[in-house]
Amino acid sequence: MTRLDPTGTDMIEQIDQPAMLAQAQTWSAVNTGTANLAGLAVQAGLLADAFSALPGEVSLTDPAPVTGIDAGGAEFEKPHGQHLVLRVRPDAVRRLLLTGHMDTVFPADDPFQAQTWLDDTTLNGPGLADMKGGIAVMLHALLALESTDAAAGIGYDVLINADEETGSLSSAALIEELARGKYAALTYEPSALPDGTLAHARGGTGNYSLIVKGQSAHAGRNPQDGRNAIVAAAALVLGLKRLETPDCPVNPAKIEGGAANNVVPDNAVLRFNIRPKEPAAGERFEAGLQALMREIRQSHEVSIHLHGGVTRPPKPVDGRAQKLFDLVRDCGSVLGQEIGWQSTGGVCDGNNIAACGVPVVDTMGVRGGAIHSPQEFMIVPSLKERAALSALVLHRLASGDEL
Ligand SMILES: [Zn+2]
Repeated sequence: MTRLDPTGTDMIEQIDQPAMLAQAQTWSAVNTGTANLAGLAVQAGLLADAFSALPGEVSLTDPAPVTGIDAGGAEFEKPHGQHLVLRVRPDAVRRLLLTGHMDTVFPADDPFQAQTWLDDTTLNGPGLADMKGGIAVMLHALLALESTDAAAGIGYDVLINADEETGSLSSAALIEELARGKYAALTYEPSALPDGTLAHARGGTGNYSLIVKGQSAHAGRNPQDGRNAIVAAAALVLGLKRLETPDCPVNPAKIEGGAANNVVPDNAVLRFNIRPKEPAAGERFEAGLQALMREIRQSHEVSIHLHGGVTRPPKPVDGRAQKLFDLVRDCGSVLGQEIGWQSTGGVCDGNNIAACGVPVVDTMGVRGGAIHSPQEFMIVPSLKERAALSALVLHRLASGDEL
């Protein structure tokens, strides 16, 4: 095991655990459900203040327009909060991307809003692990890096988006823009397991709505003139299950629409999700979906409109990405932390970053667990522990380590 050199020791000793905990607690106390724009605006302000401790320019960027489909099949605008961007040393030859998200899955009216100490080192609270603690880890790792001479050798962009929990639809283009040309990326989702295990390869995900329009008619007088949208949607469901393969599970999730019992229904909305394990599997599914829509349009004489698509491409781990994992493991070993990894079915912004060809480790945040539930917890000492890990990884990349 390599020992930590004096520069590394100095860098890590100054990481301020009480300040990190205070920030994570302050940020957790602000409700930032993805739809709570007022809460997100408050949080964006707090984060802008906190990240102004770093060099560079903090800015808030408007969300890109995003639409959804309502139960009647009509398209509507979905509002989102602003995203925070910090650019540091934009002219550096080697530049990194660090990302996090300020939103949580808990809406403003959710009963889970408060923090509770479960024991001396475990704090329960909304978004503490996913990922307000992770944002503190990122910030303090960067502060530690900035205290060293090596920092001058590297530039970076920080992105903290406001819509990760609903798929980053209003920040996907921004993620892509910021990922372009970066040497590597770190994302601060909580560890995959409470022991610090990282998420390795990830599958992808796609969400779709099929809007089916038929022709209404009287169920008794002239049913032959009707074109039943519910029957067509049911045929689509069976067709979707036929398109399912082991490397691309398909989940028809909901059919909405219909009419009174004596009316042939002329509208239906079918929602479904796919989980492609490889990019090619998603492409094969899309081709099959187009053929299925053609077939059902013809045989049922309905119109079908497709909304949605793959929003998180699968994230395989290529050679350079593996080297980044190896670097994280080596830095952990210097610090006496044993770092392993495992594949997961979950998705995050790491998927989008990897799709740009940038090596990424996306679970650099705190150790914790039970995320997306009222039992969510953060292991408090992991704040400094993971900031030390990140600081060392950043320092090694700033000092010329190759991937
Ligand atoms: Zn998260």
